[in-house]
Amino acid sequence: MQTIGRFAPSPSGRIHLGNIFCCLLAWLSARQKGGRVVLRIEDLDTARCPRRYALQLQEDLRWLGLDWDEGPEAGGERGPYEQSRRTALYRAALERLSAKGLVYPCFCTRAELHAASAPHREDGQIIYPGTCRSLTAEQAEERAGRRAPALRLRVPEEMWSFTDGHMGRYVENLARDCGDFLLCRSDGLFAYQLAVVVDDAAMGITEVVRGADLLASTPRQLYLYHLLGLDPPAFYHVPLLLAPDGRRLSKRDADAGLAELRPRLSAEELLGKLAYLAGFHPSASPRTARELLAEFDWAQVPKTDIRLPESLFNA
Ligand code: GLU
Repeated sequence: MQTIGRFAPSPSGRIHLGNIFCCLLAWLSARQKGGRVVLRIEDLDTARCPRRYALQLQEDLRWLGLDWDEGPEAGGERGPYEQSRRTALYRAALERLSAKGLVYPCFCTRAELHAASAPHREDGQIIYPGTCRSLTAEQAEERAGRRAPALRLRVPEEMWSFTDGHMGRYVENLARDCGDFLLCRSDGLFAYQLAVVVDDAAMGITEVVRGADLLASTPRQLYLYHLLGLDPPAFYHVPLLLAPDGRRLSKRDADAGLAELRPRLSAEELLGKLAYLAGFHPSASPRTARELLAEFDWAQVPKTDIRLPESLFNA
């Protein structure tokens, strides 16, 4: 079976070191097996992801030498894919889940959700307490007159586990550790969990390489694969890059963004440093993406978050 990996960025700003780190590992993992890589722009929230960032992202990836392939015909589109153009597919999947009686409207406001989620997950996410799970049709109708509902998936009190290609075994109790999760927001936007499963399946993705912040989403996604009768890919979750002070990198960390780094470093310098942090390149010396193919080894990649050394990117 041919390996198909993917880049799945949400371009709500200029790409930063954490995104590049993920893209680099996704690219190396797939290309080292002679596999293909597809690009999918996760721009469902079009207000937060203006097109200029998606275009800039493609230019930045090209500059780094991280190339991608056209991708198979998936839902009337060939890659690079844009989620904002694929909502008919998410709607169809939502309808299949609804037909199984697993979807219900949720009228909770953000403040109500925060107040009712006790305890929150370790990653700060809400565990939905099931407030709207058992509303009668009359109650739902009465509330719908006041507020547009979000849609949630009913999850069972069941353990879901998988073996991550990098992080090893991971287990979650869907009801207790996550609760009924969103499929569609109250403003009509399809939720990440649904879109990512529909798309990874439609595009024939065989391996998903992404940040460890999404490890806890994977059991939910596996449950959706199961309900929709789809084959899941292999998952590899990679450590997050942290700022020198230990904070998680975000698009607001200007000095970790390509706008700041590109004028100062060549693509080869940047890749050599990232590969060094990823543990499979012995020094931080410059390397092209293609050269790194010979060195890349999952076994060397750390499993815990990586704090960026103060000076590494200032040279
Ligand atoms: N679009 C997500 C992000 O940029 C990644 C989703 C995924 O890889 O499953 O964080």
